[in-house]
Amino acid sequence: MRSLLVVVPALLLACQADPADETDIQDDGTQIEDEGSDTDTDDVDTDDTDTDDVLSEQSADLLFIREEEKLARDVYDVLGAQYGTQIFQNIRQSEQGHMEALLPHILRLGLTDPIVDDSTGAFTNPDLTALYETLIDQGDVDLVAALTVGATIEDLDIVDIANAIVRADDAELITTYERLMCGSRNHLRSYTTQLGRQGADYTAQYLTPAELESILAQSNEQCD
Ligand code: ZN
Ligand code: ZN
Repeated sequence: MRSLLVVVPALLLACQADPADETDIQDDGTQIEDEGSDTDTDDVDTDDTDTDDVLSEQSADLLFIREEEKLARDVYDVLGAQYGTQIFQNIRQSEQGHMEALLPHILRLGLTDPIVDDSTGAFTNPDLTALYETLIDQGDVDLVAALTVGATIEDLDIVDIANAIVRADDAELITTYERLMCGSRNHLRSYTTQLGRQGADYTAQYLTPAELESILAQSNEQCD
């Protein structure tokens, strides 16, 4: 699993790196030209800058996490077919629900859904394509490796969603994020329980060891 430590942190940075894609959506207010008045109308929109920045960051996170949920679903589809283990098929259904829960927010906020091809392993974000391929390779080794991939995805999801919540200001979106994070905690408990039955431990890769310990000390939560 060691190579995941190299590949995946780059993704966490990439998540924050490109909020600029959304700026053209916000800027059309400045296009108004002649309305007959001859004064300095160009200054009207300048105080919108701060809210634009918040929305752009929130939007970039939302689009990223929508595809990150698809990555979870797709990896569990592949690993479930490979090992015939029920846990992947069960959690896969939950990830499908997480993907679907984010789409209304994307539409409501006037964004473009990054999922243009729902087939397994297809992503708009090239970082997620690379991560998908790495995780499939890692999970190919044996069942313990596959369950560790599952725990790793949930570990990463919890951290990415927690960071997105900090940067978000839309109350409805935050409520959905909280529900997804609750689901991820349950999934993380399920994968680590299965690893325990295989005689294997999971070591936190994104969460702190204390955060992981705290999650694993709790029983499964009702997330709806
Ligand atoms: Zn999820
Ligand atoms: Zn999950």
